[in-house]
Amino acid sequence: MATPSPYGTDNTQVPCPRCRGPLGDFPEDIGGGSRVAVERDVRICGRCATDEAVRDALGRAPLPYGEWPLRDDHLTWADVPKVPGF
Ligand SMILES: [Zn+2]
Repeated sequence: MATPSPYGTDNTQVPCPRCRGPLGDFPEDIGGGSRVAVERDVRICGRCATDEAVRDALGRAPLPYGEWPLRDDHLTWADVPKVPGF
């Protein structure tokens, strides 16, 4: 059985450790697992999970845990250059 959250079951009330925004866009949204943790057991919001994936796609290193919370805007897939022909 999962440990009960002090915030209850509404993940929009849980802060994302990476950006301090809401962890969930809706109460049941569990976000994603951060790539900085080998076990992928650090929960971050969906926008941060996308940011980490985009950094990976761009060949950038993930933002280390020690540099959280994020100060810049989240990257999105729009930040990835389009490959001609695809
Ligand atoms: Zn976040």
